[in-house]
Amino acid sequence: MENFNIDNLVRENIKKLKPYSSARSEFSGNASVFLDANENPFDTGFNRYPDPLQRKLKEKLSFIKGVASENIFLGNGSDEAIDLVYRVFCNPGKDNVIAPDPTYGMYEVCAEINDIEYRKVNLDADFDIDVDSILAKTDENTKVIFICSPNNPTGNLMTRSKVIRILDNFKGIVVVDEAYIDFASEKSLSSLLTQYPNLIIFQTFSKAWGLASIRLGIAFASSQIISYYNKVKYPYNVNILTQSHALEILDNEEKVKEDVDYILKEREEMINSLKDLSYVIKVYPTDSNFILVKVKDANFAYDKLMEKGVVVRNRNKITLCSGCLRITVGTENENNNVIDVLSSL
Ligand SMILES: *Cc1c(COP(=O)(O)O)cnc(C)c1O
Repeated sequence: MENFNIDNLVRENIKKLKPYSSARSEFSGNASVFLDANENPFDTGFNRYPDPLQRKLKEKLSFIKGVASENIFLGNGSDEAIDLVYRVFCNPGKDNVIAPDPTYGMYEVCAEINDIEYRKVNLDADFDIDVDSILAKTDENTKVIFICSPNNPTGNLMTRSKVIRILDNFKGIVVVDEAYIDFASEKSLSSLLTQYPNLIIFQTFSKAWGLASIRLGIAFASSQIISYYNKVKYPYNVNILTQSHALEILDNEEKVKEDVDYILKEREEMINSLKDLSYVIKVYPTDSNFILVKVKDANFAYDKLMEKGVVVRNRNKITLCSGCLRITVGTENENNNVIDVLSSL
């Protein structure tokens, strides 16, 4: 993108901000006596502050993802990466963001918390983004366009060329949330990062990596954007338990691939079983580890599943999703529970 200057998008107060400088970030080098951070000297395993920039973890992740460390931000779940988009780029009470509808709920919640206008544009009949309508909704105060691909709760990938059309035609920040990319039939858009300095890609350890409880989210972006993220984030935003456990798991990439393969195989089984049920009206195509299913009566089916101790997500009230349940692909046994209840209706 020609003449793109990220500073034109960043809030004035953030540009001027002198960030908190922690003891651990000021010192880098070799030393053996650490009396700079008011820590307890006795070794509990946890008495030292963690690396504020998670350098070891980023190095390893960089190798796995093919994205340079300086283009990686790690946060307390993707939630932190979402919130930081607002805190870095959006002026409360003035700016707006655009997102497709339906999509992941946190973009809107964070917009409201930060007092940012949230503009929704319906997905089309194939649950794909409507590029012209999205671009038509932008104005000089539009700072961010969110795109979730594969999308939650619909499950499908957004067409790559359409995402690129948005990148080519919008001069603000484009966020592509790839929380479910490991289950998708297409690759991450991370190869576009060098071409588009306004692109931010989210990924997470919460889904394919099986680590939802350690709270570790990823953002890939230009080094300038990452610097602003680092300036605004809490100094020690990723604790040492999370950092060290993630480091261990990154050695087991093969195991994660096996889990994903299992889930993809079960997804296929589940789709076939669901399609055979008379209570099911439609099974939507999915590139995720969940399936959106339209049934005769979503509230009734939801209650019946609950009676049997099976919890799915009722999306009946969501835009374009009336009559729909969102079902996560679990183990073969768990999935059979769902099929058994639905086949009895
Ligand atoms: C599950 C999910 C995430 C993950 O959020 P974390 O805070 O990293 O657990 C992010 N985006 C979408 C669209 C999701 O569905």
